[in-house]
Amino acid sequence: MKSILITLTLLITFVGNLMAKEHQLAIVIHGGAGTIVKQNLSDEKEALIKAKLTESINAGYAVLQKGGDSTDAVIAAINVLENSPLFNAGVGAVYTKDGKHELDASIMRGSDLQAGAVAGVSHVKNPINAAKEVMLHSPHVMLSNRGADNFAKQHGLKTVDNNYFDTDYRYQQWQAINHKNKVSLSEDLLKTDYKFGTVGAVAIDKNGTISAGTSTGGMTNKAFGRIGDSPIIGAGTYADNRSCGVSATGHGEFFIRYAVAHDICARVLYKQQSLQHSADVVINHNLKQAGGDGGIVGLDKQGNPVMVFNTAGMYRGYKTEKSETKVYIYNTK
Ligand code: ASP
Repeated sequence: MKSILITLTLLITFVGNLMAKEHQLAIVIHGGAGTIVKQNLSDEKEALIKAKLTESINAGYAVLQKGGDSTDAVIAAINVLENSPLFNAGVGAVYTKDGKHELDASIMRGSDLQAGAVAGVSHVKNPINAAKEVMLHSPHVMLSNRGADNFAKQHGLKTVDNNYFDTDYRYQQWQAINHKNKVSLSEDLLKTDYKFGTVGAVAIDKNGTISAGTSTGGMTNKAFGRIGDSPIIGAGTYADNRSCGVSATGHGEFFIRYAVAHDICARVLYKQQSLQHSADVVINHNLKQAGGDGGIVGLDKQGNPVMVFNTAGMYRGYKTEKSETKVYIYNTK
């Protein structure tokens, strides 16, 4: 009898360990990719950015550690970045050609492929929260402009005047190109200073549910009504528990046309390739060849973080059960 009990206990422990090892809690974030080179960032600004990235990762990871779900972890991480003027999301969003701010955000949950997005909002303080409301409390996937602002307000989210998003730094960036009839920021003028600055996070919780979210002010000097990849499910954001979760940053028009986030997850699912390899092919080969600048962060279903970009740098970092919080800015290769 005693030996049966011991065998049973060992078996339960073994199975328990096996199940526990299926995935780990993890979060990975980005704060935008672009021409981010050491000589253009003062030590002071670098320290500020790293501190904010760390705060964001830790806020998201704390939700996971308390047993919270990955959607709430993504929201917590992104809110920290939206509320910081250092990033092009929430306060600190870039200016449109008309000198206003129009923000986009999306979120997706990989357990049931539910998703929500808002595009071109002008008054929601934290657009990622509005995207979550759309996912959870509307029959739709995407709401835009006034409809999205009104929906957010009706659902009790904080709204602000459009000038809440103003910052001097983004104003100067806009002034530098506003007289040119360009949206594209690959001009030499901006080569030295431009970062896309969109923010995003991907998290996996105790149930193995992967969520991904992205929030942005878009691209400087964009046309009134222009919508980028960030609120488009499959372009800027995708999550599927069977494969991976991805959040992107970069020149949105390319990310939309190449369906970047979904393409990466589809390669993992159908070709059984690793997330690292799939992201490398899409970002460093396909997009690069097409002239699309940017990068992604993602988690596979075991919770392994991946951060891939074809630009000089990307604000990024992660924390997993196996690793302390790590943050990076430049290309470390
Ligand atoms: N992807 C964003 C857009 O095109 C820009 C960014 O990543 O900063 O709107």
